[in-house]
Amino acid sequence: MTTQVLQDSPLFQTGYLVDGVWKSLDTTFDVLNPATGEIIASVAKAGKKETEDAIAAASRAFAGWRAKTAKERSVILYRWYELIIENKSWLGRLMTTEQGKPLKEAEGEVEYAASFIQWFAEQAKRANGEIIPPIKPGSRILATREPVGVVAAITPWNFPMAMLTRKLGPALAAGCTGIIKPANNTPLSAFALLALAKKAGVPDGVLNAVAGNTAEISDAIMASHEVRKISFTGSTAVGKTLVRNAAETMKKVSMELGGNAPYIVFEDADIDAAVQGAIANKFRNAGQVCVSVNRFYIHESVYDTFTQKLSTAVSALKVGNGLEEGVVVGPLIEPAAIEKVREHVEDAVAKGAKVLAGGKAHSLGGNFWQPTVLGDCSDGMKLAQEETFGPVAACFRFTSEEEVVQRANATPFGLAAYFYTQNLSRVFRVSQAIESGMIGINECAVSTELGPFGGVKESGLGREGSVLGLEEFLEVKTLHLGGL
Ligand code: NAD
Repeated sequence: MTTQVLQDSPLFQTGYLVDGVWKSLDTTFDVLNPATGEIIASVAKAGKKETEDAIAAASRAFAGWRAKTAKERSVILYRWYELIIENKSWLGRLMTTEQGKPLKEAEGEVEYAASFIQWFAEQAKRANGEIIPPIKPGSRILATREPVGVVAAITPWNFPMAMLTRKLGPALAAGCTGIIKPANNTPLSAFALLALAKKAGVPDGVLNAVAGNTAEISDAIMASHEVRKISFTGSTAVGKTLVRNAAETMKKVSMELGGNAPYIVFEDADIDAAVQGAIANKFRNAGQVCVSVNRFYIHESVYDTFTQKLSTAVSALKVGNGLEEGVVVGPLIEPAAIEKVREHVEDAVAKGAKVLAGGKAHSLGGNFWQPTVLGDCSDGMKLAQEETFGPVAACFRFTSEEEVVQRANATPFGLAAYFYTQNLSRVFRVSQAIESGMIGINECAVSTELGPFGGVKESGLGREGSVLGLEEFLEVKTLHLGGL
């Protein structure tokens, strides 16, 4: 399938969306294929006015959408889920072309994205309230749940579909309307999902979309008294700005931010399972994942075995354009991402790290980096302190459980953590001691619509997915009834 075939589909939208109509603008910005540098689309560069129009549309649509029964909203959401799955192959191609991840992974993300719509189609019917024992005779107290109102969903480029549906599923289920602002690298994936939402029966104005002038869009959203909630996924730095700005109008906030995940391999671990988990976790999406391992802590007694096995496996990973058969590591999103990886690797090597695999830009050039394993890393290196967000496995030695837990926690972040051990009492002891919103224990994957997703410390506020995800879009209203 060529880019032309993608462009010929009605799902390929390049405008901004207000009241169910995609509108164009004279000013545009280019969306590039990160594997080839080719321009895929020129997208309307929305700013203040378009954002205000989008918010106004969402406000107008709110009364009608919240008035539908939960079951009616559920039926529409379920239809949207089905349409996403029916279009999996096309959506996967679009995502690979726009974002770079290998096709199989992109299709996996389409399914993962759809799973949130399916889950919240079910949860829509369970926005239950409570009946509270009254304090005096002849009275009742009811705690009811209502939609928070107009929502702004701001999403990153690394999971351009799933990060959006993880917000829109519960928002729509709760009866909220909103405006989405996808990352400028990947608006097309988000817009395609909205085109399908319309086809599924989501009424015009319920979902509106803008991309382009991020500062103007952000300012218009923040200044609005109608937008009652910001649901953001992205970097901690931007998240902090948004929380500060939200204070002015006291918007509710949900923040899914960056991480610095540790992955601890204890001396009693199943080493082969730990190596397999390391590959699956670290090299998925070329390491551009918020729950991607940033620091591999390996017990000194198994360090050589683990790093040798890991390096051998990593050297065999096929790098290339994600549309090509057999490719498992695609390009990074843009040149700046390559520069960050280079900076982290060079800093580590200058401070004593040993290159065990890869270590430099890939011969394919452009946005490709060799899958890399670095040994003898130490906690003072840049890659130990901040997200590298690239295909670099940094390995550190440790001696004792107490020491490694302390080092794992020595970061302002706390999104995901992983450890491998066969010792049950250690499972509970270490799980309790590690400061993290999610922990994989002999398990390298922590993302599913079924489990609460979110971080502690500077990794965020709130939870997405699971039964908790719906709560983030509901307000509690308490009714005190007397004279009964
Ligand atoms: P980013 O913070 O640069 O951008 C995220 C989104 O915010 C984009 O749409 C961007 O255009 C927008 N944005 C940027 N500045 C803004 C501002 N001042 N006001 C309003 N919006 C603004 O992040 P990114 O580079 O797109 O994504 C990578 C980051 O996201 C990493 O730190 C990663 O860990 C994090 N992430 C977290 C999760 C999670 O669930 N916790 C999931 C995926 C990614």
